[in-house]
Amino acid sequence: MKLKRNLGITILSATLLLSGIGISADATTTKSGTAVSHSEKTDLPNIKILATGGTIAGSSDSDTDTTGYKAGALGVETLIEAVPQMKKVADVSGEQIANVGSQNMDNSTLLKLAKRINTLLALKDVDGIVVTHGTDTLEETAYFLNLVVKSQKPVVIVGSMRPATAISADGPLNLYNAVEIASSKEAKNKGVLVTLNDRIGAARYITKTNTTATDTFKSTEQGYVGEIAGGKVVFYNEPTRKHTTKSIFNVSKLDKLPQVDILYTYQNDNRYLYDAAVKAGAKGIVVAGSGNGSMSETALNGAKDAVKKGVVITKSSRVGSGVVTHEASDDKDKFVTSDSLNPQKARILLMLALTKTKDPKKIQEYFNEY
Ligand code: ASP
Repeated sequence: MKLKRNLGITILSATLLLSGIGISADATTTKSGTAVSHSEKTDLPNIKILATGGTIAGSSDSDTDTTGYKAGALGVETLIEAVPQMKKVADVSGEQIANVGSQNMDNSTLLKLAKRINTLLALKDVDGIVVTHGTDTLEETAYFLNLVVKSQKPVVIVGSMRPATAISADGPLNLYNAVEIASSKEAKNKGVLVTLNDRIGAARYITKTNTTATDTFKSTEQGYVGEIAGGKVVFYNEPTRKHTTKSIFNVSKLDKLPQVDILYTYQNDNRYLYDAAVKAGAKGIVVAGSGNGSMSETALNGAKDAVKKGVVITKSSRVGSGVVTHEASDDKDKFVTSDSLNPQKARILLMLALTKTKDPKKIQEYFNEY
């Protein structure tokens, strides 16, 4: 493994490809399951970094590449070595859970990650968890963990929009901030938190809003819960919806999750996508409806027939913000509505809800509470 620290010396060399964090493009990947310890025992908080891949572990041959790089190329050891400043904040050690672009995160990796976090947080000498993750589906993993982690200790998910080899890579400071948040007493019992770009968001509310910008994660309606300013972690709000220790969802005995698909609404859409999802074994379908969850007559007929076959339909919206209101017609159709959960997060809650019941009324209660 080739690792180059930035010691305050600017080296302009095409072959060295030193970025602000000093990772060369040819650093090697740590294999899944590898645990790396980077500090001697101190009385600092003990923070575990669980790496799953993404742009924060991304690498490219050119330091001007901010797109088209390989996500999930660097191992957790490389990420930790690149931010030695973290050792002043916490005793940091790492584990590689996966090393993928988050578009490839799947249910089995989610379960593996959640179970590992619960095992670690049950240990007396573990004070908090940081998960490094690709940004594309980060909010799905964050919300899943928000519902199944059984601890009040901080869990912070962090990503970056620029690969580690880029000029002005945002990963190292984001990672440092995440360790600071996970080490902070105020971060306890706030549910799973997300940090990028000096902001702290609640897993329930935060969403990716821009394809490439570093300020992509926003909570448009509910706001951030805090920020990191002048190197200090500051909290202003708390998520009000149930999470972690108040959540009834438990993955300890699960080795798979029910299949839930998302279907997008658009002009001239058809019912065959509903029929295909049912045929493929979907136990639930989330509709990314137009506006306040509206659907065309043809899609509606597909959805109603899916309900007759025992599939739970949950209406969300493609709009990007706002509540999908629950109308009398939804009760009649036995449809669930997603409150303010966007389609990808509604899918997460519906999967977990289906591990408990198929009753749309009960599932609606979960959507109202979580
Ligand atoms: N495709 C990448 C991923 O989600 C993008 C990123 O991490 O920013 O893994």
